[in-house]
Parts: sequence; C-alpha cells; structure tokens
Amino acid sequence: MSLKQKQCDIHWLTGQFKEIQQELSYRESIQLRVRRESRLALVLVSFIFAMFAITDYNLLGDSTEFYILISMRVIVVSTCVIFALIIGRVGSFSRKPLLHALPLWVLAAGIISIVPLRPESLYTQITAVVVAIMAFYLLIPSLLTIASWASGFLSIGFIVASVAYADVSAPTATRLVLLLIMANIVGYCALLRLEILQRKQFSLLNEERDQNLALQREVEHRKSLEAQLRRLAERDTLTEVDTRSHFIKRAEALLERALRENSGFCLLMIDVDHFKQINDTWGHTRGDEVLKQVAKTIRQSLRRVDVVGRLGGEEFIVAMPNTHHKEAVTLAQRLTANVNTIELPSPLNQVSVSITVGIALKSNERSLDLLIQRADEMLYKGKRNGRNRVELAR
Ligand code: GH3
Ligand code: MG
Ligand code: MG
Repeated sequence: MSLKQKQCDIHWLTGQFKEIQQELSYRESIQLRVRRESRLALVLVSFIFAMFAITDYNLLGDSTEFYILISMRVIVVSTCVIFALIIGRVGSFSRKPLLHALPLWVLAAGIISIVPLRPESLYTQITAVVVAIMAFYLLIPSLLTIASWASGFLSIGFIVASVAYADVSAPTATRLVLLLIMANIVGYCALLRLEILQRKQFSLLNEERDQNLALQREVEHRKSLEAQLRRLAERDTLTEVDTRSHFIKRAEALLERALRENSGFCLLMIDVDHFKQINDTWGHTRGDEVLKQVAKTIRQSLRRVDVVGRLGGEEFIVAMPNTHHKEAVTLAQRLTANVNTIELPSPLNQVSVSITVGIALKSNERSLDLLIQRADEMLYKGKRNGRNRVELAR
C-alpha cells in the first residue's frame, strides 16, 4: 500500500482515520480551533435555549410547570456554559472526547424534559428538536460518533416522551419517527462528508510537508556536495594551499587591482631543492610529508593578504599585493630561512630542506602569465647560482 493511500485510509462510517495514531495527530492539529468554536457554539445554543423561556411563559403563564421549566432551563444553560468554559480551556478531541459529549447530552435531556411539562406545544417542539439535531451535527464542533450518539438519544427520548406524555396517535408517532430518522440521516451524512474532507486535507498537507522536508534535505545535501566540490577544485588536498586554477583566478584579480590603484605587486615562484633526491631516498609518502611541511611553513611565513598556490609537483607560487621589491625580498629571505629550519619527524630529521625563490615585480603589462614567466626565469637563475636563495628580476 502506498504512503498516500495509507494516509487517506478513512473509515467510511465514522469518518475517522483507521490508524489511531494518525487520527490522534489530526485531532491534535485541530485542537485550538475546536476549543474556540465549541465554546462559542455552546454559549450561543445555551442562549437560544434560555430564550425559549419566553414561549414557556406565554403558554403556561404563572404556573408550577413554568417554574419547573425555568429551573430546568437554568440548570441546562448554566451546565452548558460551564462546559463551554472548560472546553475553551482544556477541551480536545484527542484526549477528552467525552467532555464534548456531555453538554450535548445535557441539552438533549433538557429538550426531552419539555414534553411532559408542555405537551400541548408538541408540534413547535418537533421543529426545535430537528433544529437541535442539526446543531448537534453541524453547529457544535464534535466528532461524528459523539454527535450521532447524542442525536440518537435526543430523537429516541423525544419520541418516547411524546408517546408517553403528549398522547400522540400511532400515525403521528410514525411520522415523527420518520422525520427524526431523516433529520439524523441528513445531519449524519453532512458531518460524515465534512469529517472525511477535513481529514483528506490534513493528509494532503502532511504529504506536502513531508515532500518539502525531503526537498529541503535534498537541497542541503546538494549544497554540501557543491561545497565539497568547490573545496576540491580550489584547495590542493595534500598541501592545503590553492590549486593552480584557483590561484590564477585570485592572483589575476589582485594584479588588476594593483594596476588600477597603481600599487605594488610581486610574484614569488618557489621550488624545493633536490626534491627528487628526497623522494628517491625516503620514498614518495615521506616526500609528501616534506611537501606538507614546506607548504605549512610558506603559509605561516607570509602575510594573511598573500595568496599561496601549488603550481604542481614541488613548486609553489605566491601573489603579494601592496608589496614592493624590498619588502618582497625580505619576506622571501625570511621564508627560505624558515624552510631551512623545518624540523621533520623521525626518520626524516636528518634531511635538510631548502627552497629557491624567484621574484618578479609588477610592471605595466597586464599579463599574469608574463609575470609568472619572469619569476620562473629568476627561479632557474637561483638554481643555477647554487639553490637555497632568492633571485629578483631587475
Ligand atoms: P631541483 O633542485 O633542480 O628542483 O631538483 P628537484 O629534484 O627538486 O627537481 P625535479 O623536478 O627533478 O624533481 C621534482 C620531483 O618531485 C620529481 C617528482 O617525482 C616529485 N614530485 C612531483 N609531485 C610530487 C608529489 O606530489 N609528491 C611527491 N612526494 N613527489 C612529487
Ligand atoms: Mg621542480
Ligand atoms: Mg625542485
């Protein structure tokens, strides 16, 4: 059975969800509305019931029956108002369905008790009973089961009282029975339809909420995948500096800004000396360890504004904004000195690591490629001149 079908599994006779948990969560969801509407409807019905005291007086005058009727109406009205207040505060179909049934039964008992006291006005009372049945089903919010039991009690009680006290003939009693059965069927079907529709709407809303949640989760998952992909594209996984492509993007922006603002800009090309030898002696994995340490030292030796990238292999590149040649040389020398003092974990502690740095300064041409080329030339000049040194393009 699909989730959709399951969610809409409503009993055809009671109009309630077959699954008890689902029914309870539906009732919870309408709790506040039910409390508010029940309170209002009960107060309204009590007021109308009290108003019928005027007809009592018209029919009975200043008699004992009138006073009995007035007392009954006071009891019924005050009980219903008390129930209205209690329901308004704590009434919920999920936990206290009986609380909603009680005022209906009190009202029904009140209406039935009018028959023996005012038997001559039976035909007016029949209309009142039909209206009360409709009110039970449609005006006062209640579950179909509650409304139909209270309505059944009112109908049977009224017929019994009519036969016993109003002296109705057999054909009249039959007509009365048929009328009340009809009123009950109409009320029952109307409320059943309403109950089913409301529950279907609840299911659809839940379904939509579930779909939205799933969609939200999917969006979050995609966002995190996107972030992971971006990290992979921008960050070199071994050394944690920028990848070549990301570095070029950032360095181009810095160069453009330097040209616009006519500020200093330097490019450093860094290559680890005799790295092949380290690899050959200690293996590729330990070589990786050395590369990581060199990258870490580069990052720590430079400023926050400098952008570091890995060009490939054991070559790194640095873009330095707002930097003139003297500052660049000082920073590069500090960097080479720091690399010389790198302490590697055993057994690499015997290895002495050094780097050669080539520096190119920004001139008027707008090409980063040209600057890279010049820094590269300086790097190889440094290699030729004995390594572990800094060369600056003049
Ligand atoms: P020079 O002082 O002239 O730069 O000598 P070198 O040995 O450093 O230069 P060469 O370019 O001959 O060697 C670079 C070596 O770096 C060769 C390659 O195997 C190694 N290499 C490139 N990428 C990686 C890497 O990701 N990890 C490790 N461990 N080695 C790498
Ligand atoms: Mg190299
Ligand atoms: Mg090298």
